[in-house]
Amino acid sequence: MELFADIIIDISHNKLDQTFQYRIPPELQNVLEPGSVVEIPFGRGDRLTKGYVMRVTDIPSCPLEKMKQVKGIVTDLVGGDSKLIALALWMRDYYGSTTVQALRTVLPFRQKASPKKKKTVVLRISKAEAEEKLEFYKKKHQSARARLLEALLEEGILPYEAVTGSLKITSSVLKTLEEQGVLTCESEQIYRTPAMLQRLQGEKTGQDTFSLNGEQREIVEAIGKEWDSCGFAQYLIHGVTGSGKTAVYMELIEMALLRGEQAILLIPEIALTYQNVIRFYHRFGDRISILHSRLSKAERYDQFERARSGDIDVMIGPRSALFTPFQKLGIIIIDEEHETSYKSESIPRYHARETGKKRAMLEKAKLVLGSATPSLDAYYEAQQGEGRLFRMTTRALGGSLPEVCTVDMRKELKEGNRSILSRTLSGKIGECLEKKQQVMLFLNRRGYAGFVSCRSCGHVIKCPHCDVSLSLHKNGRLICHYCGYEEPSVSVCPKCGSPFIGGFKAGTQQIEEMVKRAFPDAGVLRMDADTTKGRDGHAEILRAFGNHEADILIGTQMIVKGHDFPHVTLVGILAADLSLNAGDYQASERTFQLLTQAAGRAGRGREPGKVVIQTYDPENYALVCAAKQDYESFYNQEMHHRALAGYPPAGDMMAVHCASENQQQLEIAVDYLAKFIRQIAKKRQAVVIGPADEAVAKVNDIYRKAIYLKHKEQRVLTSIKNLVEQYVEINSGFQEIMISFERK
Ligand code: ADP
Ligand code: ZN
Ligand code: ZN
Repeated sequence: MELFADIIIDISHNKLDQTFQYRIPPELQNVLEPGSVVEIPFGRGDRLTKGYVMRVTDIPSCPLEKMKQVKGIVTDLVGGDSKLIALALWMRDYYGSTTVQALRTVLPFRQKASPKKKKTVVLRISKAEAEEKLEFYKKKHQSARARLLEALLEEGILPYEAVTGSLKITSSVLKTLEEQGVLTCESEQIYRTPAMLQRLQGEKTGQDTFSLNGEQREIVEAIGKEWDSCGFAQYLIHGVTGSGKTAVYMELIEMALLRGEQAILLIPEIALTYQNVIRFYHRFGDRISILHSRLSKAERYDQFERARSGDIDVMIGPRSALFTPFQKLGIIIIDEEHETSYKSESIPRYHARETGKKRAMLEKAKLVLGSATPSLDAYYEAQQGEGRLFRMTTRALGGSLPEVCTVDMRKELKEGNRSILSRTLSGKIGECLEKKQQVMLFLNRRGYAGFVSCRSCGHVIKCPHCDVSLSLHKNGRLICHYCGYEEPSVSVCPKCGSPFIGGFKAGTQQIEEMVKRAFPDAGVLRMDADTTKGRDGHAEILRAFGNHEADILIGTQMIVKGHDFPHVTLVGILAADLSLNAGDYQASERTFQLLTQAAGRAGRGREPGKVVIQTYDPENYALVCAAKQDYESFYNQEMHHRALAGYPPAGDMMAVHCASENQQQLEIAVDYLAKFIRQIAKKRQAVVIGPADEAVAKVNDIYRKAIYLKHKEQRVLTSIKNLVEQYVEINSGFQEIMISFERK
């Protein structure tokens, strides 16, 4: 069977969607793959041109006699684009997207702003020769040349503008002297320096002065020992908050640099971890660059160019820093690997952990994941023997874990307290304020999808098929966002008959008002999407609280990440159940992570910390394990549930998202699609769930529905995805429907 290659000639412009098909000669049939760089005859005169293979197929797109043939494969490339293209094509095939969408995600494109250049004039002859020439010019009354040479003898290099400006040298004089070899005019690229880097350059403190402790050294030595022999390798560091993972990362990065290799460090959000970034800057200085969400496209492009040219060796940033075009990437470190910000919301919906692993494999680099609460996915892989697991169990600066107590809010109600604050929490806040200590109140709203629960007995109304909570819709019905199951809402609890059943309504603002009423003398700050809108909103609130300008900080999940406030001795978690009943299969995992992190905020200074968890479901294993900071036990129980229901990582799951402005058309198309998917899934023994409305069923007047698929093996879902892609492409009924995929 003859094979053909779809090839892109130019990856630098907006011509990505122009592929050209070539025949693959027999000797290259098993050699060429997506990402290969080839030589092909192209254009008038069939000039040999470099091209990138996007796809290998056995279906010719035009008559064979009209098709040209690939000339050869280019193998002597140093690092660079070929591997990034291969990565993009893997993302296309695994996550589902067009080639262009994938390439645009991975390759930084030069935007309209072209890089800035700085022009200089450089003396190219020895001092003695220059002095001799200077005498000669003077004697000949060539005063312009004399003036220039005098200045160059003094400085060696002059800015071009100064030469043509204040020295008044014409370009023809410069040209003559350049031809004689006296000087050269050079243009050096200057990169736009992002404000964050400029600010870092001014930071004075932050150098680590300690040496590694036993736990840290063990990890560094173990990884170092197999560095050169193993090519790709994967590690997971499960280290409690404050155990000193950052110092380990720095040592590992150093190891890469010593070998002439480069490093990428992913962190969830720079604004929240600025203190740590300073530590890196002090260790590696100008070898570092930083990406973050507020960089302009041009600034971002420049930082990637610096990496490409070898100007820097370490890139720190969010998930997109993964695509930094280093020449010889040695290590990818993903800190707080469990964070949801590592998953992209735009197509291809890639996850930095999986994609980082793929890149590390392509580059034969190391992948290091770190977390105090590893994702089930990462921990499961480690349990399966994919990569080594390290544990860090003690805080590097000493200090004990906080004392956690769980308050049963059902009992509060029974005893007559209908407030959002339990008596225990109120009492402890009072004590704290008296001692001039600080309090954080965390409203766990993450993923809140309007479940219905009973405040008397804690009963939550769940889907009888999917093991997730039902969400209350405006039309008064309870709906499952996986399978679409519906039932009418209730006014009394089906379990205990209490009338106190309904959705949880309090937001951070109501809590703020209530806390101010209860503690009129306390300074209260609130941090949520509303109060952090400005450019530095976030940082400003954190700074004020850090300086003890307020006593109580109220906020959503933003407040539990990364900050060290030594005067905080009490953390109150309001409505721990909100995230527990978020209506998706990861609800317990997210809750465990958030509670463990929130608890880790208390008592970072000398005073021991206290944590109060308020809940209607105190026996829930996610809460019990978080209160005990017992990851292992949480993992085992959660994996048990996942295995029973076939949810990842026990099996693979994929969503097919469908969206359209036309609700009626969407309904019809989704029904057809579901029928088709059921047909092909049946043959492969995959489970189809839905279709159902998405958790947010309408965004900007676009209606959204989803179909879910489950199967033990990834490749089965990938093959179903490919068939769906083909089906959608050839069926005109889907033209107005946006269809995309999401791996779970
Ligand atoms: P993690 O990232 O694991 O939460 P960090 O790396 O931020 O922890 O370390 C917590 C604190 O402990 C930091 O203030 C750090 O400077 C300090 N630290 C880390 N390692 C050591 C060590 N070996 N000796 C003394 N202090 C350390
Ligand atoms: Zn009840
Ligand atoms: Zn369901």
